[in-house]
Amino acid sequence: MRKHIFNAGPCKLADPCLENTAKAVLELNNSGQSILEVSHRSKDFQAVMDEAVSLFREVLSIPDNYHVLFMGGGASTQFAMIPMNFLKTKAAYVNTGTWSKKAIDEAKLFGNVEVIASSQDKNYTYYPKGFKIPSDVDYLHITSNNTIRGTEIFEDLNAPVPLIADMSSDILSRPVDVSKYAMIYGGAQKNMGPAGVTFVIIRNDMIEKIADRVVPTMLRYSTHVEGESMYNTPPCVNIFAVKETLKWVKAMGGVKAMEKLAKERAEMLYAEIERNPLFRPTVEEGSRSRMNIPFIWAEGKEDLQEKFLDFAKVRNIVGLKGHRSVGGFRASTYNACTIDDVKALVKCMQDFEKEV
Ligand SMILES: *Cc1c(COP(=O)(O)O)cnc(C)c1O
Repeated sequence: MRKHIFNAGPCKLADPCLENTAKAVLELNNSGQSILEVSHRSKDFQAVMDEAVSLFREVLSIPDNYHVLFMGGGASTQFAMIPMNFLKTKAAYVNTGTWSKKAIDEAKLFGNVEVIASSQDKNYTYYPKGFKIPSDVDYLHITSNNTIRGTEIFEDLNAPVPLIADMSSDILSRPVDVSKYAMIYGGAQKNMGPAGVTFVIIRNDMIEKIADRVVPTMLRYSTHVEGESMYNTPPCVNIFAVKETLKWVKAMGGVKAMEKLAKERAEMLYAEIERNPLFRPTVEEGSRSRMNIPFIWAEGKEDLQEKFLDFAKVRNIVGLKGHRSVGGFRASTYNACTIDDVKALVKCMQDFEKEV
């Protein structure tokens, strides 16, 4: 039986994505070969890549003056590639938690970093708003959704400098005005596909802005633009699954429909967290992510931790254990998480309240 999956990443994927990818693993089209075996230079795979890119462009309304790339290395490699390619003297970063901090640490290897806003003062329980963006930096980097702390910015900022966003965990969960960004990137495994492939949306003019320093071939954005994501062997099966996810998002009504469902799921779960005397939320209202919802015990109830996780497990609910830095619980309600999944969790919380 399929479980109610609330894993933070890799995430739950839509059934048609799993079914079609499983079929392609056995045989891609009528090629007599698996997607795992077929040459990435073959017509069959080129068609997969082309469809993934064009669906991404369509679903997210990516303007023509942007390149769409799929590569390996995860979002974590992007943390280093961004400053390596674009940090000449100084870059601005917003610090909203673990992933931002990792990005900041990599940037410091290549130049000066100005942290222009941070929510560290309140343990990253809110998203800083209204901060002033300097105009003398090479770029501004933000993390649009903080997977671990559960805060999210729902706004596409107006920045006087190239704006770069790590959208690993909220991509495809709402319409985005891509034209406000110089670059958007992320690991696919939070909302767009399986682990092992990284998406990069990068404005054409950024390629001319690559720093005049030694950058290894694989870590230069121009390499992947010129190679059309095939400079080296791409993660073929992962890209296939991304294509299937995009097909599913489109069939479901696109990112607008995804946003509506995301709001519905988050509101339903937050309402129960607020109502249930056993639990409480950790994130301030107005900053609450629709994708990652952390919650902790009401005071004095902490001893129930293991009992509740076991209680959820027998109800086929998995992936609730909070990140080790926050404790408690985190329900990740990505695109493929259904209203029924959330209803099952809410019911579980209510039944547990009656039981203890
Ligand atoms: C998971 C995550 C990362 C790290 O992604 P990898 O692909 O594992 O390197 C970076 N940023 C955010 C916001 C994430 O959620």
